[in-house]
Amino acid sequence: MQINGRTKTCGLIGNPVEHTLSPVIHNNLAELTGINMVYVPFKVENEVLSEAIKGAQALEIGGLNVTVPHKERVMPYLKEIDALAGKIGAVNTLVPCEGGYKGYNTDMPGLYRAMLSDGIRVDGENVILLGAGGVARAVAVMLAEKVEKIYILNRTVEKAEAIAQEVNGYADREVAVAMALSEYDKLPAGKYLAVQATNIGMYPKTEEAVVEDKAFYEKIHTAYDLIYNPADTRFMQLVKEAGGSAFNGLKMLLYQGIIAYELWNNISISEVQAEEIYTRLKEKL
Ligand code: NAP
Repeated sequence: MQINGRTKTCGLIGNPVEHTLSPVIHNNLAELTGINMVYVPFKVENEVLSEAIKGAQALEIGGLNVTVPHKERVMPYLKEIDALAGKIGAVNTLVPCEGGYKGYNTDMPGLYRAMLSDGIRVDGENVILLGAGGVARAVAVMLAEKVEKIYILNRTVEKAEAIAQEVNGYADREVAVAMALSEYDKLPAGKYLAVQATNIGMYPKTEEAVVEDKAFYEKIHTAYDLIYNPADTRFMQLVKEAGGSAFNGLKMLLYQGIIAYELWNNISISEVQAEEIYTRLKEKL
């Protein structure tokens, strides 16, 4: 598509942004849907975040994604916050609104849509959530309304406890249980859906998994590793060796982008279009 006087500019603010795959998602979506839009990365240092938001508004930037380290820090500079983003406490998508931007979180609906697209059943499941960082917290908020139980396992058990307490408050039931990572052998008997939300196994430390004990993996029928580089993590390999199915986080990345694109352009992306972008995304990994 030729850039011209009517081209809408969207982009990503974060630091670093050099390795982002988001331009692949959005520029291919623009081509596929015939929308005159271009998507570019903007490296934004912490000290100039508020100026960046004001500048984006002045330049009439048509939409922004927000990544590390600004997902929480950007919230005070927004005109409005969507209810789910407020609950999660982090935004990754800004949509122009009267007088500024409204913040949304498309990471979690993105994960849910990715799981559905992969045929993963979430509702009524018993879930092992590995990790209690920013993303694990959001995953717990998203799952709390849908699943039977969430066992949050983390190296620093206090962080798992804080999330469990918060989520149980929202859900108004004892849906989340905090455990130390080392206590995985105390999980009640049964088969679980597992979500791997730690950094372990991410490139370049691809030979690592959050738990090495093969007995742990016997408990997992399906696993979703939020890491997508490498595409086949050691965690996923261990799940598959124990007879379970395993998926990486690339579809979550895809769908968080698709939902942002839908918000910016007020359109719906079909499953066929999503598959096409997914193919192009995999080629770039
Ligand atoms: P974070 O806030 O830094 O949390 C990191 C988590 O990993 C914590 O639970 C931490 O445990 C645990 N951890 C780190 N090193 C560990 C070790 N050596 N042993 C045991 N646990 C360890 O990170 P985040 O922002 O939540 O991101 C988590 C993952 O999600 C990353 O791998 C990221 O790539 C992925 N992600 C994927 C997508 C996607 O679209 N697919 C989007 C966002 C993020 P402690 O609390 O004990 O430190």
